[in-house]
Amino acid sequence: MNPKTRQEKISVLLSTEPKFRIKQIQEALFKDGVKNWLDVSNLPLPLRTKLHEKIPFISVRENTLNISADQSTFKALLSLEDDLEIETVLMRNSKGSFTICVSSQVGCAMRCSFCATGTLGLKRNLTVDEIVDQYRFWKLYIEKNNLGSRISNIVYMGMGEPLANYEAVKESLNTILNKTDVGITKITVSTAGVIPRMEHILNDPDWPHVRFAVSLHSANPYVRNKLMPSSYEDFLPRLASWGKQYLEAFGNRNHHLTFEYIMLNSINDSKKDALELIQYVKSIGDVKVNLIPYNFTDFLFMPSTEEVMDAFQQTLKNNGVTVTKRRSRGDDIAAACGQLAKKKC
Ligand code: SF4
Repeated sequence: MNPKTRQEKISVLLSTEPKFRIKQIQEALFKDGVKNWLDVSNLPLPLRTKLHEKIPFISVRENTLNISADQSTFKALLSLEDDLEIETVLMRNSKGSFTICVSSQVGCAMRCSFCATGTLGLKRNLTVDEIVDQYRFWKLYIEKNNLGSRISNIVYMGMGEPLANYEAVKESLNTILNKTDVGITKITVSTAGVIPRMEHILNDPDWPHVRFAVSLHSANPYVRNKLMPSSYEDFLPRLASWGKQYLEAFGNRNHHLTFEYIMLNSINDSKKDALELIQYVKSIGDVKVNLIPYNFTDFLFMPSTEEVMDAFQQTLKNNGVTVTKRRSRGDDIAAACGQLAKKKC
């Protein structure tokens, strides 16, 4: 069998080397100031040269890079070994460090009707290396451009449904947690709601308990199904039952469950929608709701107005629901939520 992962390729290439060399190489991938194999100064030069000639130091190549006018958001179109492309985003966050948004698949099969990525269909899953290397790509970019801060947060909210690429996403999370200084509560995996996988996570000892966000977008089964065709008849009761189990097993102050709610004009932003959402959330427990402004792509939807969003938020607050409103960033370079679809600005 041909080696597929970087780890396997290294093991085959260096099969006669002592074990500690492999460990040194693994560490070097995440070391500050190491831009390529030749920079790994604790390896003998012939070994560095061998690696340099045979194994790419990083599995993604920069194709296009756009920077928002306010210099807060950077979107990269990356090419993979087979020339397929993905997008990944770097954003300055309120703490002065960086949050990155990573993709987990090329395209997506979920077809959410408000999402640009959904129009691409699914091309393939990303490998562990391709997910982890989005972190490494931005780390190298920050160093090269002296942006002066570190990556503190990671959201799995780029192209693709992370739980449809479960094993690779799980391994990428464990690699990042083991090799970088990004903490477990600083990573969020966002899902459209793949219930069988979510149930599996409750009992998977290898799944690291990073934060979890579920794209809800409506507590009304008819509306949700229109927005997210991957939804099915008993989705909402199953999600509620899963949510209760999740909160019982993992819920605490640092580890809440979030429902994402994209605000669409006259679709899911009325008082009635808010009351349905309150009733649903309260039937589960201490769930946080994150309201997301809709970022116009090429679709039929319109964003809710600022006033409507504020009123919606206030209704939730008045009824004891913890609710936040996400600030939209990078929409001038199509880097905001729902806009990742290889659009070259
Ligand atoms: S919102 Fe997420 S799950 Fe839905 S189509 Fe877009 S990338 Fe896929």
